[in-house]
Amino acid sequence: MTDNSPKVWQINAAGIRPWITFVLICALIGSLGLGWVLKSALLILGLIILLPVVAIGGFIIWSRLNIVQANCPVCDQELTGFKGTELDCPSCGEALRVSKGSVNRVAPPNTIDVAAIEIDTP
Ligand SMILES: [Zn+2]
Repeated sequence: MTDNSPKVWQINAAGIRPWITFVLICALIGSLGLGWVLKSALLILGLIILLPVVAIGGFIIWSRLNIVQANCPVCDQELTGFKGTELDCPSCGEALRVSKGSVNRVAPPNTIDVAAIEIDTP
């Protein structure tokens, strides 16, 4: 009985060792997997928080670069428009083009816009 006990312990240790290795590998894979899941979750969370901030910031910068506030060159009415677009002055009806930092008349000064209408005479 006393001679057998160290042998039994050795057998038990040899039988336990692969299990310990298996558990350790499982723990390693588990921790790696969990780390990956945690990282991706944090990344998604970060994107969810960052994207609107970036979008709003980008929109503010874009609008500062593209929205022009100037006065109508004809009637001095304050106008707001996007750069590169054309608009009609709400006060005097003048066709205006919004350019970098200013609003200009589409037609040169002293031009009277006339819409030509074709009339069929019988
Ligand atoms: Zn005007």
